[in-house]
Amino acid sequence: MSAKWVYFFGKDRTEGDGKNKNLLGGKGAGLAEMTSIGIPVPPGFTITTEACVQFYKDNKNYPAGLWDQVLAALATLETAMGKKFGDIENPLLVSVRSGARVSMPGMMDTVLNLGLTDESVKGLAKSSGNERFAYDSYRRFIQMFSDVVLGIGHHQFEHILKDMKNARGVKEDTELNAADMKELVEKYKTLVLSEIGRQFPQDPKEQLKYAIDAVFDSWNNQRAKTYRKINKMSDDWGTAVNVQSMVFGNMGDDCGTGVAFTRDPSTGEKVFFGEYLVNAQGEDVVAGIRTPEPIAKLQTAMPEVFGQLEEVYKKLENHYKDVQDIEFTIERGTLYMLQTRTGKRTARAAVKIAYDMVQEGLIDKRTAVLRVAPEQVDQLLHPMIDTSIKYDIIAKGLPASPGAAVGKAVFSAEDAESWAAQGEKVILVRAETSPEDIGGMHAAQGILTATGGMTSHAAVVARGMGKCCVAGCGAIRINEHQRLFTASGVTIKEGDILTINGSTGEVIVGAAKLIEPELSGEFAEILTWADTFRTLGVRANADTPHDSQVAREFGAEGIGLCRTEHMFFDGNRIDAVREMILADNEEGRRKALAKVKPYQKEDFLGLFTAMEGLPVTIRLLDPPLHEFIPHNDEEIDRVAKASGVSAEHLKAKATELHEFNPMLGHRGCRLGLTYPEIYEMQVYAIFEAACELVKQGKVVKPEVMIPLVGSYKELEILKDMTNEVAQETIARYGVKLDYLVGTMIELPRAALTANEIAEHAQFFSFGTNDLTQTTLGVSRDDAGKFLPIYVEKGIFKEDPFVSIDVSGVGQLVEMGVSKGRSVRPDLKTGICGEHGGDPDSIAFCQKAGLNYVSCSPFRVPVARLAAAHAALK
Ligand code: PEP
Ligand code: MG
Repeated sequence: MSAKWVYFFGKDRTEGDGKNKNLLGGKGAGLAEMTSIGIPVPPGFTITTEACVQFYKDNKNYPAGLWDQVLAALATLETAMGKKFGDIENPLLVSVRSGARVSMPGMMDTVLNLGLTDESVKGLAKSSGNERFAYDSYRRFIQMFSDVVLGIGHHQFEHILKDMKNARGVKEDTELNAADMKELVEKYKTLVLSEIGRQFPQDPKEQLKYAIDAVFDSWNNQRAKTYRKINKMSDDWGTAVNVQSMVFGNMGDDCGTGVAFTRDPSTGEKVFFGEYLVNAQGEDVVAGIRTPEPIAKLQTAMPEVFGQLEEVYKKLENHYKDVQDIEFTIERGTLYMLQTRTGKRTARAAVKIAYDMVQEGLIDKRTAVLRVAPEQVDQLLHPMIDTSIKYDIIAKGLPASPGAAVGKAVFSAEDAESWAAQGEKVILVRAETSPEDIGGMHAAQGILTATGGMTSHAAVVARGMGKCCVAGCGAIRINEHQRLFTASGVTIKEGDILTINGSTGEVIVGAAKLIEPELSGEFAEILTWADTFRTLGVRANADTPHDSQVAREFGAEGIGLCRTEHMFFDGNRIDAVREMILADNEEGRRKALAKVKPYQKEDFLGLFTAMEGLPVTIRLLDPPLHEFIPHNDEEIDRVAKASGVSAEHLKAKATELHEFNPMLGHRGCRLGLTYPEIYEMQVYAIFEAACELVKQGKVVKPEVMIPLVGSYKELEILKDMTNEVAQETIARYGVKLDYLVGTMIELPRAALTANEIAEHAQFFSFGTNDLTQTTLGVSRDDAGKFLPIYVEKGIFKEDPFVSIDVSGVGQLVEMGVSKGRSVRPDLKTGICGEHGGDPDSIAFCQKAGLNYVSCSPFRVPVARLAAAHAALK
C-alpha cells in the first residue's frame, strides 16, 4: 500500500483534517474546514505537501501511488459535479493552485480553467449557453497554462490580444465578440506550436499532470525562495496542490469575484472590508489589473449575495476566532467560497483586533498576547509624520500600509536593491508591483504604486513586511523609461527625495519631519497583559536621563547598560577628557580627571533621578583612548589650540595610541588596570551621586560593571578598588546604600572560567556584541563586507550580530550561567548586547535561564512582548 497523498473535499465526503495545515497547506486545510462546517465550497482535492517533499527527494518524480490517487479523486469529483473531464457536452473544469502551510501570496503559480480543449470548449459553450464566454475562458487558459507550465511569456499573448483590439478598433477585451475569441484561440495555439514545436496539449489529464508538476516546481522558483528567506520559512516544507472544480465569476453581470477581510487589516476596525469586480475571474482582483469596487457596493448591487457573504464571514470568524482573509466567486447569483486563511494585518490592526476579541469574549488574554508578533510591533514604534507642519502634498493614493517613509525615488526593484545596498534610503515607485519585486520592496523604506487596491500585491506584501505603502495612487503619472513621475504639475525624478504617508495615502515632495511614536491605548494594555506572563526582566541600554525617561515610558524596569564613554563626548568635558589623555604622567591625568568628575557626577545624578529607585547598571570606561582624540589635521589644530599643546604633540600622541587591532587592544578593564585613576574617578562620581540622593531620601540602586574581563584576577583587583571607594564614600556621607559590583561576560575565556569569575561578581551581563566578535573571530566593524554573503550562502542563517548564534555563542552563554551559578546560586544574569532586543535571541535567553534582557529604549516594548511569548511558548 502506498502512502495517502490525496485528500478529497466535498459536501458528502471530506477526508482531510482542516486543522492540519502542515499536511494540506493553508489553502487546502481552509477548504476542508469550510466544507465540513457547511460553507459553500466547490469540491475538489488536495495533494499533500508530503507528496511535494517526496517529489523533490525522488529527483522530481511522482511518488508511488500519487498519480493513481489523483485519477481516483478526479473520478469522485466527476461524480460529485455530474460532469466529465474533457466532455464535449458538459465538461468539468478545474483550477490548480499551490498552497504552502504558511501563505506566500502570489509567490507560486496558479492555473485556472484547466480541462479546456478544442473539444471540451464546445461543451462549455453548450452548457453555459454562451459561446463567447467559453472561448474567452479557453484563450485565458491557453495563456495562463503556457506562461506557467510551458514557459511562454504572457506578454507574447498580450501582444496578439492588443493587435486584435487595434484591428477591431476597440479598447476593452469585453468589446471583442465570440468570433474574435475563437480567432484569438487559434492565434494563441499557433504561437504555442511555434514556441515549443508541438501542439497545445489536448488531453485534459496530461494538462493536469503538467500543471501539478508546475506547482511543485514553483515551490523552488526564485521569488518563492526569496520570500521564504525574508519570512524565515523553511525550504523543506513543500507546497500542497489544490485541484478544485471551477466556478465562474466571468459569465455576466450577475457574476463576480472578490477578496475580503472579516475586519479591516490596516486599522483593525470591526468592519467587513474588501473589494470585488463584476464579471471577472480569479486573479483579476489581486493582480491589480482593474481597480475593484469596495465591498459595500455589493450590498446594493447584489443584496442577496451580500447577505450570504455576511453570514459566511461571521460564521468563519466565530469558528476560527481570528480575522479571516477570504476569496469568493459569485456565479450567476450564487456565492462560492474559494479560500479562507488567517488574515495578515498591520501591527496596529493586530493590536486592536487582539484587544477587541478579548473584550468580545472570543479569545483570552494569553491568546491575545500571542496574536501580536513582537517583530511586528516595531512598526508601532516607528516615526509618523509631524502633521503640525504644512507639506507640499502632490497626490493622494490609498493608505495601504501605515507609517511614514522618506527616501529617494527609484523606479525599479533592482535599483531599490542596489541603491539600498549603497546605504541609500529609497522609495520604490511602480505602476504596480508583482511578486518579482519582492527583493526591492524589502530593500525600500516604502512603496508607492499608481494602480491596484487595498488588497493588491503591493498592499498585501507591504503590510506583511510592516512597510509603509501608498497604493493605487492614480494621480501620479509614471514614466519608467525616463525614471520620473509627475503629479500636480511637479516632476519627481530618480534620486529626488519624497515622503509617503501610508496612514493617509499622501505623497509629499521632499523630506517631511517625522515624530517619535508613543506607547498608549490598546497597545499599552496588551503589553501590561504580556508583563503578567513573562518571567524575564526587561531593562534598557541608556546613557542619558532623556533616554532613561523614554525607556521608562516604554516600560523598562531598570538600566541594564549605561555606556559611560558616551558621556565623555558631551559639551565641554571632552576638552578635559582629552587633557587627561594627553597628560604625560599620573599627576597630569589626575588633574584633568578632577575636571571631568563634576560632569560625571551630574550625569549619574540625572540617571538615578530619572530611574527613581530602579536598578542602574553603570559600566566603567570601555573603549580605547584613541577614540577620544582627533585624527584629521583641522580637528587636531583646533584641539591643540584649545588644550594649549602643539599640534605636533597631539599628533605624536595619536601615533603613540594607535593600535593595529584596537578591539583586542588597550580597552575595557585593561584601561582600569593601567590607569586606575580613571576608574577611581568614575566610581567616586557614581557613589557621591548615589549618596547625595540617598541623603535626600531617594532610593538608588547602583550596579557597577567592569567590562572586558577575561580573568578573575582583573575583576578581583577592580572590585576591591570599587568596594574601597564605595565604602569610603558611603561612610563619608553617613548613609546606608546597597549596591552591586559585577562584570560583563564578553570574552570566551570569561565564559569558560565563569566559576572563578563569579567568586568576585554579584552579577553577569553578557556582552554578546563582543562575545560574538571574539567567539567567531569576526570583527563587528568590518563584517559588512562578507556577512551578507555568508547569510546568502546559508553559512549563517542570520547575521550573528543581530540574532544570537545559538549553537556557538549560545553555548558560551549557557556555560557562563551554569558555571557562574555553580559557585553563586543567586548570581543575577542578563544580556546587554544588541541581541537583547531581538525576539529570537530573547527566546534563547529565556531557555538559558537569564534574569533579564537589556535593549535600546525603542525596543523595550518588543522585548516585553517577546519575553511573554518566550515564557508562554
Ligand atoms: C557588548 O559587547 O555586547 C556590549 C554590550 O558592549 P559594547 O557594545 O559597548 O562593546
Ligand atoms: Mg562590549
